[in-house]
This record gives sequence, structure tokens and C-alpha cells, in this order.
Amino acid sequence: MKRTPMIAGNWKMFKTGPEAVQTALRLVAGCRDVTDVDIMIAPAFVALSLVAQIVKNTPVRLGAQNLYFEKQGAFTGEISADMLKAAGAAYVIIGHSERRQHFFETDEAVCKKIRAAVTANLTPILCVGETEAQRDQEKTFLTLDKQVSDGLQGFGPDEIKDLILAYEPVWAIGTGKSASVAQVKEVHQYLRSLLEKRFSPDLAQTIRILYGGSVKPENIADLMRIEDVDGALVGGASLDADTFTKIIKFDTIL
Ligand code: PEP
Repeated sequence: MKRTPMIAGNWKMFKTGPEAVQTALRLVAGCRDVTDVDIMIAPAFVALSLVAQIVKNTPVRLGAQNLYFEKQGAFTGEISADMLKAAGAAYVIIGHSERRQHFFETDEAVCKKIRAAVTANLTPILCVGETEAQRDQEKTFLTLDKQVSDGLQGFGPDEIKDLILAYEPVWAIGTGKSASVAQVKEVHQYLRSLLEKRFSPDLAQTIRILYGGSVKPENIADLMRIEDVDGALVGGASLDADTFTKIIKFDTIL
């Protein structure tokens, strides 16, 4: 089955509003002619509305890096799905390993966040991935199974047909050490079979599974050649518009 590739950039806690605008302007100029790849950037919350103006009527879509699952209320410092939507976001990254690691986000919270995103009509990008210790102890599949099953607890296939899954091995994020083609192939195949078992064969074929972890222009082509890889979630290499544009245009180097 043909799935449209997606290249998504996670800008993490980098770039002020004006800096985000400058990068977005350069990215938009470089990607004007891209029609066969879905492009997304996720700047910091405070830059969302500013960047929304820049990417309007371009192939670049906007995403957020997190949300809080309650609709509104006395939750100082948090941002709701409706607020993100109103700021111009179409996507939201949920369960990134940095949130699980530094902010103690559990699979239960991840599940509530996905529910909030789906309810607000935001497309969730659910991040899953094992730590180095879990891989060394041969607990990679067990870890992923739990993250997917608990993170998507209670959802029917129709509710998550647009969801995007991102396999991000924790040991490959921001380390410069990407997972090997063989490792990515094995895990993406496993994730697709898990979706089939847990939900339905149709959903397993529809859902896009991105790879994330030290993706750069030098390794994107090899990654995109893997059958079950439908794109990439890019951190560090998405911060520079020219570098990110090279990754988005991976098919010119395939
Ligand atoms: C990420 O933040 O999701 C990520 C994959 O980071 P990096 O590309 O820098 O490894």
C-alpha cells in the first residue's frame, strides 16, 4: 500500500519567535515545489501563531510538541488541544522520550493526551522507543508493545486512522548514532504487525510509521528505502532550514 511520506521537524526548546519565523521563511522558500511529501515543523508554543502566518498556503504544516489532556481549567503553565488548534497547529507530538524521561510522562498520560488531540481534530504523532538498557536486555519489543498498547488503550481503529507512529530509539536521539537499517527494518515490521494484531489489518496498512533518531541528509535515503519506513521525525537536523530541506527532498538522492 502507498502511504504518503512525512518528514517532521521537532524544534524542541530552540528558537525564539523571531528565530523560528526566519527558519520557517527559509524552509518555505526551499520547499515550495514539494508535492509528494507531507512536511511538518513543531516550534515552541510561543512561536506557533507567528510561524502559522509564514506557512499558510504552503506545503509546510504546523505541529506542537506536547499538550495537556484537560480541556481547560486551573492547570498553570499547561496548553490545551483547542489552544493549539486555534494557534494553527494541525499535528501534535505526544509521548516524546524527552517528555517521558524529564517530565515523567506515563503511558496513561500519553493515552489521555492522544484522546484530547483526537477530540480536538489534531493529528497525534505518538512516539515510542526503547532505551539502550532495554535493548541490551532484549526488551525492545516488550517495551514497544506496552507503549503502543497502553498509549492507545480504549481506541477503536476508526478513531486513530490518521494517527502517526514514530519509532524513536532513545539511544539514537540527539546522539549522532542512528539505528542501523537492519534494526529499523525489524522494529518497523514489528510495529506494523502489532497494529494489525491490536487493531486491524486495514489500520496497520494505513498508519504511517516514522523513524526518528539522528536522521540527517547523509542517512535519510537509506532509511526511506526500508519498506515499512514512511518518513522521519527529525530533531537536531531540522533546526537548519537548508539541512532540513535536503532531508525533505530525500527522493532526489534515493
Ligand atoms: C527527536 O527529537 O525526535 C529526534 C529524533 O532528535 P534527533 O534527530 O536530534 O536525534
